[in-house]
Amino acid sequence: MLRSRLRAVGISAARVTEHPAPAAVRGILLDIEGTTTPIAFVTQVLFPYARKHLRSHLEEHAGETEYESLVARLREEHASASRDGETVPPWADQPLTARLAAAAAYVEWLMDRDRKSTALKELQGRIWEDGYRRRELAGDVFPDVRPALRRWREQQLQVGIFSSGSVLAQQLLFRHSSAGDLTPLLHWHFDTRVGAKTDPESYRRIASLVELPPDRVLFLSDVTRELDAARSAGMQVRLVVRPGNAPVQSDHGYQIIRSLDEIAG
Ligand SMILES: [Mg+2]
Repeated sequence: MLRSRLRAVGISAARVTEHPAPAAVRGILLDIEGTTTPIAFVTQVLFPYARKHLRSHLEEHAGETEYESLVARLREEHASASRDGETVPPWADQPLTARLAAAAAYVEWLMDRDRKSTALKELQGRIWEDGYRRRELAGDVFPDVRPALRRWREQQLQVGIFSSGSVLAQQLLFRHSSAGDLTPLLHWHFDTRVGAKTDPESYRRIASLVELPPDRVLFLSDVTRELDAARSAGMQVRLVVRPGNAPVQSDHGYQIIRSLDEIAG
């Protein structure tokens, strides 16, 4: 369109720099909730599943070394919260059944407040792992996800995940997904150990870890504050709009996609 208009006025398009061309994308970084996966899967399936199976899970694995260490970390967090004057439920160490009940009550207290406890995240991951293995859970992904991952693989793009869910939770979701095992199509998994999703430094770190210049990486998310951070770090970004997402404000200025099919690669 521009070229033909320029030709019409006798100007060679080759000599006109309208906008610098975007750098060719070599890597795609995906958010999960609201991007690859309906938000409701996390809020209405995963979180309630962890809550429902919390007590039976702790009882089932009582005595295993990892669980003793996990409960010990919960106890430390509990003591620290208590010192800070928080109204945590009471703790008991003896007998073992009381210790597990105390741990469970504290975990429920954390869940009720949506606290970002690492011990809580680890425990949730372990409960989900059992659920996926028993096929009581399957990671919900939108139908365009698998075809897009395959297409990007054919185009030799690197593809990965950046989510506030732990790397373990990410791998479980994609390994046991409604579209089969998608983990062979994913090169990277990053969680908030690399930094907050709203901090530009996190995206600089990711670009450095995957050895790509930031402007060669395209980040897709439904949250504009995350796009702000990725763009500050130099990444290309698109705002993902999916069924079930919170409405976005109209003044964000980001290019919107409603399907991963819109990313030609
Ligand atoms: Mg999201």
